[in-house]
Amino acid sequence: MCGIIGYKGGDQAVSIVLEGLKTLEYRGYDSWGIAFLDGTGLQVKKNVGKIGNFKGFKALPEANLALGHTRWATHGGVTQSNAHPHLSNNKRIAVAHNGIVENYQALRKRLQAAGYTFHSQTDTETIPLLVEDFLKKGDDFPTAVRHTCLLLEGRYSFIVLDADSGQLIGARNGSPLLAGLGKDEFFLASDIPAFLPHTNQVVFLDDQQLVLIDSALRLFDLRSGKQLPVKPQKISWTPEQAEKGKFPHFMLKEILEQRESVSRALVQDDEQLEKIAQLITRAKQTVLVGCGTAGKMCLAGTYLFAKIAGRQTHFCVGSEFPNFAPFVGPDTLVIAVSQSGETADTLEALSIAKKRGAKVVSLLNVYGSTMMRQSDYNLLINAGPEKAVASTKAATGQLAVLALLAYATAGRLAEGRKALQIASAALARTLDDAQCKRLKALAQKIKAKENLYIIGRGLHYPIALESAIKLQEVSYIHAEGFAGGELKHGPIALIEKRTPCIVLAACDETQAEVLSNAMEVKSRGAYIIGLAPQDNEVFDLHLPVPDLGIASAIAELVPVQLLAYYLAVLRGNDPDKPRNLAKSVTVK
Ligand code: GLU
Repeated sequence: MCGIIGYKGGDQAVSIVLEGLKTLEYRGYDSWGIAFLDGTGLQVKKNVGKIGNFKGFKALPEANLALGHTRWATHGGVTQSNAHPHLSNNKRIAVAHNGIVENYQALRKRLQAAGYTFHSQTDTETIPLLVEDFLKKGDDFPTAVRHTCLLLEGRYSFIVLDADSGQLIGARNGSPLLAGLGKDEFFLASDIPAFLPHTNQVVFLDDQQLVLIDSALRLFDLRSGKQLPVKPQKISWTPEQAEKGKFPHFMLKEILEQRESVSRALVQDDEQLEKIAQLITRAKQTVLVGCGTAGKMCLAGTYLFAKIAGRQTHFCVGSEFPNFAPFVGPDTLVIAVSQSGETADTLEALSIAKKRGAKVVSLLNVYGSTMMRQSDYNLLINAGPEKAVASTKAATGQLAVLALLAYATAGRLAEGRKALQIASAALARTLDDAQCKRLKALAQKIKAKENLYIIGRGLHYPIALESAIKLQEVSYIHAEGFAGGELKHGPIALIEKRTPCIVLAACDETQAEVLSNAMEVKSRGAYIIGLAPQDNEVFDLHLPVPDLGIASAIAELVPVQLLAYYLAVLRGNDPDKPRNLAKSVTVK
């Protein structure tokens, strides 16, 4: 959550930072701001709203040092004064911050007592004021920043600019930050696409590290101040992958990319899969941990392991994991699932698990992410950059890899891969114009509805839950997913005349019963939308999905994603940047 970027190099610092902020906007978009050093000193420009709405400067200021921020407010309302960057009282220091300074109240009191004035309600403003205070006490800039970091509690990353020395520093402790190395230019950012048009040479920072940029880039340990070796890595993502291209929205682009991304997810190293399968077999318990969409895919994973490998696994929402910490030990295997690899709640679970001696496998999309570096084993889903806030291609990629892992655990990897490849090709064929048209028409029909329900049984139950998230996120229609059998225990009271109810009725052992459940809600007036290989008399509308065996769950996700997208557009919402949300949830 929240995107930060810093640049030092040629004269184009302002436009590079503004463009970078636009690519980071999916991480937060309630307000934005930049600070830059031009011939006259430190300048700041900030605004409430999306950076995408900014028309640009009349004359682009010339600067070779700048930083920027796009905010998802945690502390202090969405106002111009709370927008970042925040300055020191002497206006020498500017800071863009991602995360939370958990002890900000104590720090604020201490700084106020020392005579400093606050101009915002944010936790962030303590940072430039602390740096100013350490500078006053005689520290040089890098030492002042380091000493500041040692006082901060909580997960954060920030970029700080010193107008006097012309230096830029990035510090990281729990929130994402990486550096990019160009030719005579340096970048700092929350993620790679922010500087990908300029360089693919990336330096991944670990927690408790600080990067100092002046005429070169140097890396330091935050606690000891010891210099560390810089090891750049070349990234295979291309700038085009991170752009919308001909599509009106990233969400649509990413939904349609599932024609190829599912098969890319299946490109996994067999040895690695088998090693992880052995860990699953040997572990006393395997716990799948994730949040939001990734969490729903974890729950689906428990069904896949049960169905394919005859193995019981457990699911725990990232933020609830600490409650079960006493039961986690060296004989536990945790599988952490996250698109970004930066989800704070999942990272917290991972750290608890590691402290208690458990082994951790992570299932990720973003190479070099914190989770990747903190896990014992990694599996990458190879989806390419996912920019829309609502996860689509990452979700199906996660599901495909979990299925593959379940097959590996069953000792049937080759058979499983083949089945999933066939399924992925079928999915690609059916994700066509006709499918888009059908879903657009359905969206038109139900766009004014206030409630929408989705039911599924077995493996389709987590898919119903995920479908509801997708619809909530971008259409803002109240949508809920239920296990088909649960309706009669309460939710059926919500069904009114013409309430749309999506029924996931794949050709498997759940079909007959879920069709009965559909009949129960139809009898109470619901409008039944059947997502199934064949039509059925209970359906008021049939949306065909291919019969792909176990992979039918993957195929069911796609039409609901499209429906959510078209509903968002028809209801005048921005599907890429839904209200109140942001991607890569780096705060707890
Ligand atoms: N805590 C800071 C604020 O509310 C930064 C939040 C973020 O990471 O977006 O301004």
